Amino acid sequence: MTSAPTPPRLDDVRGFMFDVDGTLVARARDGSAQPLRGAREVLERIRASGRPLVLFTNGSHIGAEAIAAGLSRDGVPVSAAEMLTPIESAISHLRRNHPGRPVLLLATRDTRERIAAAGIELTENGEAEVVLVAHVDEIDMSSLERAARVVAGGGAFFTSSYASAYAGASGPIFSRGAMVTAAIAKAARRRPRILGKPSRAAIIEVGTRLGVPTDSIAVIGDDLAMDIALGRLGGARTVLVRSGISHSVDLDRVPLARRPDAVIDGVEDLLAAL
Ligand SMILES: [Mg+2]
Repeated sequence: MTSAPTPPRLDDVRGFMFDVDGTLVARARDGSAQPLRGAREVLERIRASGRPLVLFTNGSHIGAEAIAAGLSRDGVPVSAAEMLTPIESAISHLRRNHPGRPVLLLATRDTRERIAAAGIELTENGEAEVVLVAHVDEIDMSSLERAARVVAGGGAFFTSSYASAYAGASGPIFSRGAMVTAAIAKAARRRPRILGKPSRAAIIEVGTRLGVPTDSIAVIGDDLAMDIALGRLGGARTVLVRSGISHSVDLDRVPLARRPDAVIDGVEDLLAAL
């Protein structure tokens, strides 16, 4: 780590997107969120300035509303309207690009209910024209094979996230969604398109929710390959926090096109610029 922290400029930014884990909170063993220093104050300061903010987490096991409620309970108050997950960007993407197409969805019951309530037609059989994989708790081989057949037959193939693992309290947790996606990709010889972080669908969703062009947004996160990559896709101002997964990344070894605009130790350092 040879790069000196560079303070971000934020007075000209019109909206903010924050990652959650490793950026605003650390995850405890029991799954509860422990607010990182300054997290609550930073969000309050932004709201007081009249500018919109959203949190985007790549989790798709429960809905945005439940995630927001959990964070609020654990000390980082956020509303459901301020919370985004890959499910929101997936719903918007499917409405925009595959309207009326039946979707074979591999997901938890919560996510299934959320997507069905959004008016997306879900199907259990081979008539599907789209396969979408989100977090799954359990899967049986026949569902996997059905999905692979749809994708092999030319169906659109989406996943909420394709990162192999995410940070748990006691080390990396393998992503079941990514494992299921990889199985379908292997069988069907196709590559999935990601709809969560980092993707165009996700940054479009952020801009839409904020009501601000994506090049006027600041994206703050701890993951170079997820959050900073996402921000760059939209031409946003990107701020890497050293409080999470990329804490020891040597940015001098990262290609210029993948570096953040600014680096800080933690969100608390934003207070000076807000
Ligand atoms: Mg993170």
